[in-house]
Amino acid sequence: MTARKDWDTYFMDMAYMASTRSQCSRRHVGAVLVQGKKLLGTAYNGAPMGVPDCSEAGCMLVEEFELVKQDGEEQVVKKQRCIRTIHAEQNLLLFTDREDREGSVVYVTDQPCWTCANMLANSGIVEIVFHRSYPKDSEKVNALMEQRQLKFRQLEHYEPPAGTIAEVRN
Ligand SMILES: [Zn+2]
Ligand SMILES: [Zn+2]
Repeated sequence: MTARKDWDTYFMDMAYMASTRSQCSRRHVGAVLVQGKKLLGTAYNGAPMGVPDCSEAGCMLVEEFELVKQDGEEQVVKKQRCIRTIHAEQNLLLFTDREDREGSVVYVTDQPCWTCANMLANSGIVEIVFHRSYPKDSEKVNALMEQRQLKFRQLEHYEPPAGTIAEVRN
């Protein structure tokens, strides 16, 4: 008999299951909303309903310059990002009610970007649990979580369910 899954594993598994619905070839992100032990919503990153997604229309790429610290030195690096999709966290907010969100927890496969973190901070939720890190916005997001006094934690000894990981390009 295999060991019974703890709640963190259980809900993060669900976030990964949701992420398999994503059609963006650059990033598959899933998120779930949990109140107590009850699942209140699931979401993934994708184009708005009825609009061709990345698998049909290709990613909508924009180029950005990013300040990256390497060996203590700051360097400007050019990066591409897909802006066709609504992020999983934002879809989760669009498809859940404010009342339900009060005091609830978001499990998300990837550390939220700045915009998503900012929105989650004003959404009624009290905790964010993530798995994969997203260093780009870490500093800003960590500071925000502290100011807003939201619990923000990474699952470190966690293995996503087989077949739910898509290759991620940055
Ligand atoms: Zn895309
Ligand atoms: Zn985001």
